[in-house]
Amino acid sequence: MTARKKHFETIYRNFNASISEKYDCGQFCAPLNNGDPVCCDVENAIPAASPPEWKVIKKRTNLWKKYKPDPDDKHAVAEVKDINETCVACVCKGAAKCERDNRLMACRSFPFFPYLTKEGEFIGLGYYWIFEDRCWVISNLQIVEHAFVKEFVDAYQMLIDVDEGEYEAFLEQSAQMRRIFSRRNEIIPIIDREGGYLKVLPKSGGKVEVADVNEFSKFGPFVSDKAYKKEVKRMEKIFAEID
Ligand code: SF4
Ligand code: SF4
Repeated sequence: MTARKKHFETIYRNFNASISEKYDCGQFCAPLNNGDPVCCDVENAIPAASPPEWKVIKKRTNLWKKYKPDPDDKHAVAEVKDINETCVACVCKGAAKCERDNRLMACRSFPFFPYLTKEGEFIGLGYYWIFEDRCWVISNLQIVEHAFVKEFVDAYQMLIDVDEGEYEAFLEQSAQMRRIFSRRNEIIPIIDREGGYLKVLPKSGGKVEVADVNEFSKFGPFVSDKAYKKEVKRMEKIFAEID
């Protein structure tokens, strides 16, 4: 069985909470990305819709179109090819023209995906680790608010309950995260379904323990205020040269 129109309509209606009401996280990542929030810039993150979600969103709005990367950009071409094997790689009209009600699930949930244990239990929110150096939220999981966690969990529980393909995809994504973090010999930080914190131990077969948020790492320019300011200056200089 796959998710259908009614499931996405329900999800779009009920999954609207921001990651944080207190912090506009885009204010932290955008200065490092020439003013655009990283997750709203297709050069950084290519949104993907499952085939049923694509059908639903195309009927609601003309905000989205299929993404066709520059043929010379081999990395993007390969990524789009990979996405299009099961989903639709797409692009919106940009942050200035965002339609909040017509954001994809990918927008509503970024940078998180549902983390599933080896046994297939959906225990909480894992993050897309390739954005560790660009997404401020990943280095600041303590700001993620309960309302967001609840809506995220309700939305993805419904999706994986009705759609075997989505379930399998997140099972594999979680397994891949365990493999990579075991190689790195680092814990996987998880926000649990109630907004608390868990850690998956490396090289442990996926053993999960309760965590303190202070155990979670910070990355790249987000390791300290000093590092962040230095990186903003460096990037401003680069963008000025490009302009
Ligand atoms: S979720 Fe991450 S990448 Fe997206 S706007 Fe917030 S900090 Fe930036
Ligand atoms: S629809 Fe809005 S939230 Fe989603 S990528 Fe576009 S600008 Fe960002």
